[in-house]
Amino acid sequence: MVLPFKHEPFTDFKDERNRQEFEVALEQVKGELGKDYPLVINGEKIFTDDKLISINPGNKEQVIGKVSKATKGHVDQAMDSANHAFKTWKTWTAEERADLLFRAAAIVRRRKHEFSAWLVLDAGKPWDQADGDTAEGIDFLEYYGRQMIELGKGKPLADRPNEHNAYFYQPMGPGVVIPPWNFAFAIVCGTVAAPIVAGNPVLLKPSENTPVIAYKLVEVLEEAGLPKGVLNFIPGDPAEIGDYLVDHKETHFINFTGSRQTGTRIYERAAKVQDGQQFLKRVIAEMGGKDTIIVDKDADLELAADAIVNSAFGFSGQKCSACSRAVIHQDVYDAVLEKSIELTKKLTVGNPSEENVYMGPVVNQKQFDKIKDYIEIGKAEGELAYGGGTDDSQGFFIHPTIFKDVGPKARIMQEEIFGPVVAFTRAADFDEMLEIANNTEYGLTGAVISNNREHLNRARYEFHVGNLYFNRGCTAAIVGYQPFGGFKMSGTDSKAGGPDYLQHFLEAKIVSETF
Ligand code: GLU
Repeated sequence: MVLPFKHEPFTDFKDERNRQEFEVALEQVKGELGKDYPLVINGEKIFTDDKLISINPGNKEQVIGKVSKATKGHVDQAMDSANHAFKTWKTWTAEERADLLFRAAAIVRRRKHEFSAWLVLDAGKPWDQADGDTAEGIDFLEYYGRQMIELGKGKPLADRPNEHNAYFYQPMGPGVVIPPWNFAFAIVCGTVAAPIVAGNPVLLKPSENTPVIAYKLVEVLEEAGLPKGVLNFIPGDPAEIGDYLVDHKETHFINFTGSRQTGTRIYERAAKVQDGQQFLKRVIAEMGGKDTIIVDKDADLELAADAIVNSAFGFSGQKCSACSRAVIHQDVYDAVLEKSIELTKKLTVGNPSEENVYMGPVVNQKQFDKIKDYIEIGKAEGELAYGGGTDDSQGFFIHPTIFKDVGPKARIMQEEIFGPVVAFTRAADFDEMLEIANNTEYGLTGAVISNNREHLNRARYEFHVGNLYFNRGCTAAIVGYQPFGGFKMSGTDSKAGGPDYLQHFLEAKIVSETF
């Protein structure tokens, strides 16, 4: 019998033993840096001359791995192998496919620190954030396995005399997964495991920033017994193979997490029916956020400051759920701002591959430059209250930055920065707070810090975001507890890690028999 789902516990790095074990894992991974990684098509490892070079964002000199790059020809080969694998993969029972995910979860759990150490080096994640990323990957495997077993039973329908009706789910066919770099294990794992457990082969194009940790997942699934051709690993240059993957006439779905710009492009291109295409493509797009924490007049102000600071600066704000706007009642504005600055002063910034710091680097030069530009924009739009420091001499470091007295329509209040920058704005009453919270094109996460039950009840329906949190921060959703996905230009609200997620990769079929 399969035990009920429980989320994977996090590692306490205050415990000396855990700290030492993690240091051992970091050393082990450092001994494996700089290797060549292949494409994997139909189970075959293919090394190409043209390589993606993945570096440590905390130390630009350090090469994490050299990863083979797929061409359009490789995409065609991968699609052929996926179509071939589909013939048998779809005949596995829901339980058999779920068992495979449970085995994969057990493999990752045994090597948990090693996976987190790769995340520290490949993505620049601080230890606790890397540990959370690995834990979430395990959760996706465990959760979707259980969901598939449930869905494998189909749904009950009414019968009439001499008539039997059945409702069941079947897989669609091969599709494409394009995950982001910011949850370089968890989201890769979730967006791949879901279509696969539902019976669909996948072509995985990982982010160019973090292809090595994605390859590790491919190895795990292979070790867990995934038949060849069910998961094809095709890293590459988005300009060369991105559109080609989306446009391919055999692509049944595109499971995308990333920027609004790329997501909307995929959405538009996938709508076009190609010559010879015999079905409509489905797009699951999880895109950006511009997430607000509201602090009410009657609220726990310590909790408010803690929620803002950790949601804004955890993993340097590189989460689509990150708090980049704090909308605060005028009566408590100064107090919350001051407490937030005090907490921020205590945060440590450094290279997490060398020490256990609160904040590491941002992911690459492009993001570094973009965030730096936004800091300059912020100086014109409001007042720099804390931080603003940047240093890309060794890695891409940006210090936690707070702007105060920013107008609700300012660019740093409207545009996704994806860095450690938060803007504070004051509001006269709860109506105005809600109005400001809803005034962006995004609708992903939000939080309300309040002791006023009437206000919380209003926010429940009027604060228009997919993930709304009361009296806590707006990041760190947990699989099976807070399924994740947003409204408006944040995406298709797929609710990853939730009970409706697998249906995105399944067709429902009805068979009605008269006798
Ligand atoms: N699920 C994550 C959270 O709740 C954010 C995912 C993302 O940034 O894509 O913080």
